[in-house]
Amino acid sequence: MLTDHPTSDVVVVGAGIVGALIGRELAGQGRRVVLVDPDPGGGASVANAGMLVPSYCRPMATPATLRAGMRGLIGRDASVTLGSFAPSVLGWLARFAWAARPGRARQVATRLVDSARTAADGYAELAAETGVALGLRRSGWLQVAGSAAVLRQQINAAREQKDMPFDILDNHACLRREPGLGPHVAGGVHFDGDASLDPVAATRAALMAAEHRGAVIHRALMTGLAVRDGRVRAVHTTAGDVSAATYVLATGAAPASGTQVQPGWGWSIDLPTVTTLVHAPLMGLDDHVVFNPLAERIRITGGMRIGGTPSPEHDRVAAAAIRHAAERLVPGLRDLRNATVLRGARPMTPDGVPRIAWTRPNLITATGHGTLGMTLAPSTAKAVSALLRAQARAPRR
Ligand SMILES: Cc1cc2nc3c(=O)[nH]c(=O)nc-3n(C[C@H](O)[C@H](O)[C@H](O)COP(=O)(O)OP(=O)(O)OC[C@H]3O[C@@H](n4cnc5c(N)ncnc54)[C@H](O)[C@@H]3O)c2cc1C
Repeated sequence: MLTDHPTSDVVVVGAGIVGALIGRELAGQGRRVVLVDPDPGGGASVANAGMLVPSYCRPMATPATLRAGMRGLIGRDASVTLGSFAPSVLGWLARFAWAARPGRARQVATRLVDSARTAADGYAELAAETGVALGLRRSGWLQVAGSAAVLRQQINAAREQKDMPFDILDNHACLRREPGLGPHVAGGVHFDGDASLDPVAATRAALMAAEHRGAVIHRALMTGLAVRDGRVRAVHTTAGDVSAATYVLATGAAPASGTQVQPGWGWSIDLPTVTTLVHAPLMGLDDHVVFNPLAERIRITGGMRIGGTPSPEHDRVAAAAIRHAAERLVPGLRDLRNATVLRGARPMTPDGVPRIAWTRPNLITATGHGTLGMTLAPSTAKAVSALLRAQARAPRR
């Protein structure tokens, strides 16, 4: 039965890093918050590379990625592939191609970069609040290229970004920073303003902080929204209805109407090690493989498969390709065994811009963080709070 007397102030559906930090923010303001999720912190937020990267705010939709994607579709470059030919995915691809027109990427990056710059401070606060060691490092990010052409492309992209400090390194300078690198390195770019953390620890800490501030976790799947007179009246879940005055959809890559989000599947491989084969965060630009050395393990991520749902065979092939690319770059990794593989769905909008807005008079959508969800989640929590405050101040009509 639906009631007009909600039992909480805000229901947040989805408890990945985005939903958990929104829940923490709103509960901290004294609001009664319910987080609805069958598997809190079980989505992309624990399967990612853990990079907090103002330098990476350029969206995926660029003329170069479009060309690389097309090569992937015809089997010549596997860094971006299509996982489905469903009309929704083809529609996404058409919007992506439109968003990839020259000059557009710079505009999007300019919009996102200020939010990205606050990420490391946001997580430092979370670490201080919870006492959880997040492995936060502000040591920058080294991106290395296997060829002069790829290096040049990255230098040009870096120069296009306003106020983004970076150093250009030759092959020797890269090796001085990372002696574990193999012979296939032409040079690299080091972005000083980037940071990194352990995404599993950060997501756990965000959930812990939300609960500690009073948010309640309702472990159930949302099966639909009850809407009357244009307003959401309740969330239907597999464990009963939950109602509130306001609702937030933070369901990551799960379909949400009007958001144009498609899953961008990627994989992470954890190799248990205490060796220093990789000293600090590293990316191989040719294969888009990212290395994040964490306490007692190194996390390696890669892959971008748009749409559909990967099969176990896709998982096996993707993990083998990422491992191969990683070992080509850092040959010493070959000796490491007992890999744990995770798959995660990046919530990809075609234009690379997250969707954080009122989508009904009492429903906010907060999704579409794509390749930048860990980086942008702290500022998204503040943005959702600002939307609520602005609505509270607005004169009633
Ligand atoms: C391989 C890989 C590497 C990445 N590297 C980085 C990186 O280095 N830096 C960076 O900033 N970002 C990175 N990302 C992107 C980042 O992980 C995502 O953007 C971010 O995790 C999205 O967070 P989210 O909370 O929106 O989604 P999720 O973490 O996926 O959470 C969504 C939650 O919603 C829940 N949910 C879905 N449907 C329902 C429903 N019907 N009812 C209830 N609950 C529901 C799910 O159970 C899930 O817990 C990477 C992603 C991948 C896959």
